[in-house]
Amino acid sequence: MAKGLLIDTVRCTGCRGCQSACKQWNLKPAVETSYNPSMTNPIETNAHTYVHVEFFEIPKPNGEISWHFVSKRCMHCIHPACVSVCPVGALQKLDNGRVVWEEGKCIGCRYCQNACPFDIPKFTWYDEDGNIDNWNKIAKCTMCWDRAETGNPTEEPACSKTCPPSAIFYGEREQLLSLAKNRIQQRPDKYYNHIYGENEAGGTQVMFLAGVSPLDIGFPEVENEPHPDFTWDFLSKIPYEIAGIAVFLAGTYYFRTMRLKAKGELTSGKGGTH
Ligand code: SF4
Ligand code: SF4
Repeated sequence: MAKGLLIDTVRCTGCRGCQSACKQWNLKPAVETSYNPSMTNPIETNAHTYVHVEFFEIPKPNGEISWHFVSKRCMHCIHPACVSVCPVGALQKLDNGRVVWEEGKCIGCRYCQNACPFDIPKFTWYDEDGNIDNWNKIAKCTMCWDRAETGNPTEEPACSKTCPPSAIFYGEREQLLSLAKNRIQQRPDKYYNHIYGENEAGGTQVMFLAGVSPLDIGFPEVENEPHPDFTWDFLSKIPYEIAGIAVFLAGTYYFRTMRLKAKGELTSGKGGTH
C-alpha cells in the first residue's frame, strides 16, 4: 500500500532532529554553510541534505511575532513529473508510494530538476568527501526506501521515527488525510483550513498541516492537475528537438555505464547508501 508522511507544522518545535536523523541514516556528510539572517540552515536542501527545516517569523494582527517551522523534503508526488521526464529511467515511483532514484543510471541532464514543481532534486556538485564531483548526479529524499524494503530497523523513515513532539506521522495516505481533516475540524482556531499536498500537483504522499496559509511558509502555489500532463503537453510540441536530445542522452548514458562498469562502480541500489 502507498504510504506517506503527514507533517504537522503546528506541533514542530524546530529542533532539526529530522534533519539530523536523515543525514545520519543516509550517511551524509556535514555541508559548509554561511550565516544568513534566517535561522534556516542550510538555506535549502542539497545533495547531502535531503531534509531541512525552514524557519519563518510571521507577524500576528496584534503585532506579536509567531514562529513557524517547516520540515521540507521531496513530496513523493502521486504522479511525479520528475519520473515522467527522466530520459533514462533513473527515477521511479514505487508501489509503496516512494519516488526513488538510481545513482548509476543518472546522466545528470537535470530534466527532473526543471520539471519538479517543488524544486526538490539537487545536483551533486561535490562528492561526500568534499571533492568536486566529476559526474554530477541528482539526489533527493527517498522516504527511506531501504528501511521499507528490509524493515531494518523499522520500515518507518528516520525523520518521523525521530521527531520528539510527533510532528511527523508515517502511514497510509488515506489514514493521514483523515487524521489531518480531524485535526482541522477539532481545532479550527489552530489550523489553517488547507492540507498542502492533498490536491497539489494531483496529490502527494507527503502532506502538511499549518497554522497559516502554506504560501506564507514558503510553499509554491501549484496547479491541482498532475504535472506530467503539463510536461508532456509541452514536450509534444517540440518532438524533433526532444528526439535529438533523447538520442544524445541515450548515447551519453551508454558511455557513462561503460565507464562505471570499467571502474567497477555501477551500483544496482536505488537512492541512499544503505
Ligand atoms: S516533489 Fe519533485 S522530486 Fe519529489 S516526486 Fe514530486 S516531482 Fe519528483
Ligand atoms: S524532528 Fe520534529 S520537531 Fe524537530 S524539527 Fe523535525 S519535525 Fe520539527
